[in-house]
Amino acid sequence: MTQTASPTFAIIGGGQAGAEIAGELRKQGFDGRVVILGEEAALPYKRPPLSKAYLAGGLAEESLYVMQKAGLEKANIEFRGGARVVQIDREAKQLKLSDGSMLAYDKLAIATGGRARELKIPGADRPNVLLLRTIADVEKIRALAQAGKRAVIIGGGFIGLEAAATLVKHGVQVTVLEGLPRVLARVTSPEVSAFFERVHREAGVDLRTGVQITSFEYEAHADAAVTHIHLSDHSRVEADFIIVGIGVVPNTELAEGAGLVVDNGIVVDDCTRTSDPDIVAAGDCTNHPNEFLNRRVRLESVQNAMEQGRAAARTMLGKPETYKMVPWFWSDQFDLKLQMVGISTGYDQIVIRGDLASRAFAAFYLHEGHVIAADTVSKPLDFMLAKKMVAARMRIDPAQLADETVALKSLLPAG
Ligand SMILES: Cc1cc2nc3c(=O)[nH]c(=O)nc-3n(C[C@H](O)[C@H](O)[C@H](O)COP(=O)(O)OP(=O)(O)OC[C@H]3O[C@@H](n4cnc5c(N)ncnc54)[C@H](O)[C@@H]3O)c2cc1C
Repeated sequence: MTQTASPTFAIIGGGQAGAEIAGELRKQGFDGRVVILGEEAALPYKRPPLSKAYLAGGLAEESLYVMQKAGLEKANIEFRGGARVVQIDREAKQLKLSDGSMLAYDKLAIATGGRARELKIPGADRPNVLLLRTIADVEKIRALAQAGKRAVIIGGGFIGLEAAATLVKHGVQVTVLEGLPRVLARVTSPEVSAFFERVHREAGVDLRTGVQITSFEYEAHADAAVTHIHLSDHSRVEADFIIVGIGVVPNTELAEGAGLVVDNGIVVDDCTRTSDPDIVAAGDCTNHPNEFLNRRVRLESVQNAMEQGRAAARTMLGKPETYKMVPWFWSDQFDLKLQMVGISTGYDQIVIRGDLASRAFAAFYLHEGHVIAADTVSKPLDFMLAKKMVAARMRIDPAQLADETVALKSLLPAG
């Protein structure tokens, strides 16, 4: 690295991870130049409210910001909004922006996150077919989502279900179309999926699983909206607007173009280092080793973006520390708070603690007697304890775990 009197640490991507890296650099005492280059115009912001309170219209844009303008200025962090990086020249250690300008860096962090996966069928480019990833996306949805309108949500994952819950509460008629036999199939058990399906149906959502979209129906002229969706069971659903929530594609093209190793995410080590010693990466765009899971993963979670972001900052400062994290996640739907810790894939026993009908319970996932993951619904205290059980992969008697008369805390080692 060319040591300059005041080195420049550049961050590509002004999302949750990018902001965390910048903040942590300052917290660690770095007094060089910190520049965040963000393609979106807005200051770095939190995405979770986009499908929840912000979609509902209850929040001002500023409340989404990870750091307000004054905070960025105080920390002497330069934020350049609307600045898209189009090339990383690793040899010259320079970034090229879409407006043709260049920025030299000493150390670089890539925090480019992901983008919503697009549906690849004719008509998906029509003006009423929308994604849900950015503030701009939500503005478009809100413009069409008046009470009484018909929304069709494609995808029964977290984003689709959160959007369904928010919209139906506001009087929109919502249909959710999920191609797999159950919602949330990739992330939870059939029991928890069935619980959320019931909750959505009871709230008035027309939830259809195991259905494939065969085509969109629309008039020929370019601005014409999609009016109907045709399904594999030969049914036809009417729509005023459509939200596509079928997953996230990591933004790795820039890293790939620079010759960094990419494989379902930018490949980093447990200190967030890429294959270039002067470049780290953090957040949704990374494929990283997870000690707890004993394999590589690419996570899409705020917690990961924040913790990995902090690790990335320390590595940039030459103080690498192994980044360890038990994955956890949350989702708010209606009055319910789903919190998940660990990854339940591969469990051989499920233990339900509490009554699903009461809308507050915990599902523990065991593998060979050890707790490997848990989902709790509106049980925040149980979640705190479940995190400890999962982190320690505790062996717990399933009968005691299921018995609500046995305090969960008493199943953990004292202290
Ligand atoms: C609607 C919604 C709800 C969510 N709810 C939850 C939740 O409840 N709980 C949870 O844990 N997680 C949730 N998430 C996921 C969470 O928001 C993400 O995991 C998190 O935002 C990842 O942060 P990031 O910084 O890695 O990426 P992003 O937030 O995607 O930020 C990356 C930024 O980099 C910019 N960028 C990309 N390429 C370039 C370039 N070439 N030049 C300059 N800038 C570039 C992008 O425009 C973007 O602004 C939700 C996500 C969405 C969309």
